[in-house]
Amino acid sequence: MSASDLTLDDIGLPIATCSRCGGCGHYSYNTRDGSRCYGCNGGGTQWTAASKKQFALLTADRTAANSVLAVDVKIGDVLRLGSRNWFTVVAIRESDTQIQFDGAKRSAGFHKTSTVELRRPFDIKPYVAAAVATEIKKIARAEAKANKGGSK
Ligand SMILES: [Zn+2]
Repeated sequence: MSASDLTLDDIGLPIATCSRCGGCGHYSYNTRDGSRCYGCNGGGTQWTAASKKQFALLTADRTAANSVLAVDVKIGDVLRLGSRNWFTVVAIRESDTQIQFDGAKRSAGFHKTSTVELRRPFDIKPYVAAAVATEIKKIARAEAKANKGGSK
């Protein structure tokens, strides 16, 4: 194993052979999912610890960066309503304490000081780079240890 053996997923995060099934995608059988492995969802690979850590950081940072006060929302922002619905703000009306956002198909009122979640592009490259760097360091350490112990 060397740094060049690093396998990456489609967003560039390091992945490794699934530790549960050993990469075959199958594990113990049950009637609902057959023998599909729950470690890798049948794909045979899973994120490394560094990938999981960086993805968690990314999610937390993105959530923090996209949480804004209702008064700071602008026309054109994509705002989350409820757990799944997003709409683009096309008009904003303000009263003393409330702000009304109009989307193309619906509208919603928020208290001015409410925190709302926007959908904005977020750069994932630094997180991917950090996960790759951690993985490469880990491989280098393992190699150094193996060389120290003599050839096997
Ligand atoms: Zn698996």
